[in-house]
Amino acid sequence: RQAAYAALREVEPRTKDGERITIMVNAGLRDDVPMLNMTGADGIGLFRTEFQFLVSATLPQRDRQTRLYRDVLEAAGDKPVVFRTVDIGGDKSLPYLRGDDDGLDDENPAMGWRALRLALEREGLMKAQARSLLEAAAGRTLNVMFPMVSEPWEFDAAKEVFESQLEFLRSRRKMLPEQIRYGAMLEVPALAEVLDVLAPKLSFLSIGTNDLTQFLFAADRSNPKLAERYDWLSPSIMRFMRRVIRSIDVHAIDVTVCGEMGGRRLEALALIGLGLRRLSITPAAVGPLKEMVCKIDTREITAAMERWLADPVPDLRGSLISWAEERGI
Ligand code: PEP
Ligand code: MG
Repeated sequence: RQAAYAALREVEPRTKDGERITIMVNAGLRDDVPMLNMTGADGIGLFRTEFQFLVSATLPQRDRQTRLYRDVLEAAGDKPVVFRTVDIGGDKSLPYLRGDDDGLDDENPAMGWRALRLALEREGLMKAQARSLLEAAAGRTLNVMFPMVSEPWEFDAAKEVFESQLEFLRSRRKMLPEQIRYGAMLEVPALAEVLDVLAPKLSFLSIGTNDLTQFLFAADRSNPKLAERYDWLSPSIMRFMRRVIRSIDVHAIDVTVCGEMGGRRLEALALIGLGLRRLSITPAAVGPLKEMVCKIDTREITAAMERWLADPVPDLRGSLISWAEERGI
């Protein structure tokens, strides 16, 4: 596997018609970071900060968080890292965070008190993470994004926590990040309806298709009985993604897909056909996707997707497979 990574490490993901596709990796632990250089990816598009919390027996204190974030930034060098604030709660519940809520378990953890919903109420947690990230990124660019934003005010409130910590550090004459870029994850379908309100406040948007698709189909992403039932390549998901990508286009901000579907060949091909140019994926998928990207012409796949979605073909996956085979992709 290492040899396969190495062979494609230097390959630049550019389509036949010259479109550069940005391919980044998803990570969450210190040990994941070497993958960035092994794969030659463009950066870390999703760093899941909750992993450190999940592998700890006690709440990671600020200094431990800062150390991890600084190590990750140092290892990434000039390449960007997007830190996602903790997505805990729900099914990623932490024993040491319990006992101070109302004692009730979430009946639907995925739709429950998790991620930003929890972080905005556990202000100490959010403040500590904000301070750790700001300190770790001193002198650099800090890219931070918030998970499970459902309404624009939640983004505003989360950003405010960072801005007040920034003010605190400034008053102490600490070294600050050179630049802070704030982003939101689109995982809750309701947010798509108010993207015009949110987008002007964002530096970037990242689409978390794992949660987004489970909410679109009301189908638990971890239920094996449903795993095969709804296809990522269904007209509903594809049309939804197309609408989001187009509506963001007018705001000229980066839009990335960081859910698992982005790492699958046909899904990535379809997303590129919808206009997407940035993916953050599992490291093992970087090489295969680079190879594929170099073989496609975006004008061709864009026209094909338009045709297939205008009057939805019953089997979009089948159409994509034939399309790719005919072109030796
Ligand atoms: C997603 O929901 O697509 C996502 C990237 O976040 P996670 O898988 O960590 O919930
Ligand atoms: Mg998610």
